[in-house]
Amino acid sequence: MSTAAHSTIDHDGVVLVGTGAVNLVTGIRLSRLGVPLLMVDAGPDPRLPGPRSQACTMGGCDGRIVSLNESRHHFLKPTQDMGCTQFDRTIADGGWLGVPPQRLRDSDREWIAKFRDVSPLDYRRLNDHLIGCNRHGLARWRQLISELPDLFEGITVERLLRVYLNPAAHAAGVEGERAIGAFISELSADEIDAELGAMAEYGSRSYLGAIRVQGFGINVHGFVCRSLSRLEQSGTRFIWNTEVAEVAMTPGGEFSGLVTGDGSRISGTHVVISPGVPRPNTLLGMPSRELLAGVAGGWLTLPNDGRRLETPIKLTRDGFAADESSAGANIIPGRAPDGSPVIHISSGHAYVGADLELLEPEWQADLARVLHDTARQLFPGQYATGRERGLVVPGRLSRVCVRPWTPSCAGVFDDQAEGPGGRLLVTGGHNTGGFAQAPAVADAVSEWIDGSETSVRDSYFPRADVAVGAR
Ligand SMILES: Cc1cc2nc3c(=O)[nH]c(=O)nc-3n(C[C@H](O)[C@H](O)[C@H](O)COP(=O)(O)OP(=O)(O)OC[C@H]3O[C@@H](n4cnc5c(N)ncnc54)[C@H](O)[C@@H]3O)c2cc1C
Repeated sequence: MSTAAHSTIDHDGVVLVGTGAVNLVTGIRLSRLGVPLLMVDAGPDPRLPGPRSQACTMGGCDGRIVSLNESRHHFLKPTQDMGCTQFDRTIADGGWLGVPPQRLRDSDREWIAKFRDVSPLDYRRLNDHLIGCNRHGLARWRQLISELPDLFEGITVERLLRVYLNPAAHAAGVEGERAIGAFISELSADEIDAELGAMAEYGSRSYLGAIRVQGFGINVHGFVCRSLSRLEQSGTRFIWNTEVAEVAMTPGGEFSGLVTGDGSRISGTHVVISPGVPRPNTLLGMPSRELLAGVAGGWLTLPNDGRRLETPIKLTRDGFAADESSAGANIIPGRAPDGSPVIHISSGHAYVGADLELLEPEWQADLARVLHDTARQLFPGQYATGRERGLVVPGRLSRVCVRPWTPSCAGVFDDQAEGPGGRLLVTGGHNTGGFAQAPAVADAVSEWIDGSETSVRDSYFPRADVAVGAR
């Protein structure tokens, strides 16, 4: 591992910029095919101790879910039921704005206008595409789990529950999960008691319904660290703490290479940038740049004492704080750094616009209210224990991370530049489905390198051109 210093690197292979979930899974795929890889990241090696940025994969807590529903439920409801007004209101007012409206830039307002422009019909069409990507992703994840068990052992629970807090949501959920082929079975009262004992106190006074669905949960930080070690062992070179500051073009508009913050230049046969939410100037000139905005989510970690939660859950809820920003939550068992069992809860949408900016403390507090409300109501005992131990601090989140989000909720697969710097591709932008869809992107990148037609293209920008209001 090294840090570039005013050098010129012309890598005879593929350069991957960004080591989040999306490029990491792409890296594993390409390395298994024998492609020589160079991976560059602005941040430090995640295997080393130290503070984390708000980049999505490592910035959030240690849990992600792969289901057939990732990315999709977040847009149908807001557009149809809310008249697209969620970006007019802050989280405190039940909207999705994570910054004061006066701080929105022109580019942010344009992004919001694009979001409003996508018709319900196009959203439905995109919805079907996204489910197809999730299905592709889930099948590939299962293949990876069986082929490379060392990456997953002890950090993966290969089952998933959907939990509902009222009968109407439960019935609608069963219908929806059946429609996409995700439904497996209803949980009986005894099974609910066995699987959801950690929520017994809530269930004794309120409605609790649950179904088994296709999918799994994973402690993603372990997966990242093991994947990096695997890549390193198979010869991948890493450059850490090195920000790509510019995607350089020739005067004729050809891609001439990457320029890092310290002036070094990097090129390769192919260059794949998967930046999460891009830094301000990184992708200037790339058509996908204007589509990638940040939507922060919050995390709260509770102790997993007493009757432990062992199965990951996707929760559908209502009647909680900041309702529209938090109609769903992921609840995933895991381990704290000291090895003690914990529950990671994630939820919330807080639009922060085109920069990966820190949410100001007062806005983080609004997001925190969403998470604390859920934790306090559903896991009152664990919440109280967490407070006693100082793990849970009122008004504060365990972590915040910012996911890349496009106005149409479709990912990006933007390969419109090539030149002496190599063939250039930008991937990402999956809102809440980046982990689930990562293997579908990996397949697409490998097909793109081969020169064959890629499987995700129709679902991603620019082919999913409703994203820019082209229809
Ligand atoms: C609260 C929350 C819960 C979520 N839960 C789920 C879930 O259950 N299932 C799911 O599928 N998805 C989930 N997601 C989304 C998922 O976590 C993200 O889509 C995914 O982690 C994004 O990965 P990425 O590789 O695209 O970006 P990131 O993880 O953000 O990685 C990008 C990397 O690129 C680097 N980088 C950026 N710019 C540069 C530059 N200029 N030069 C060099 N390096 C650069 C960054 O340092 C970073 O390491 C969730 C998101 C949130 C916020």
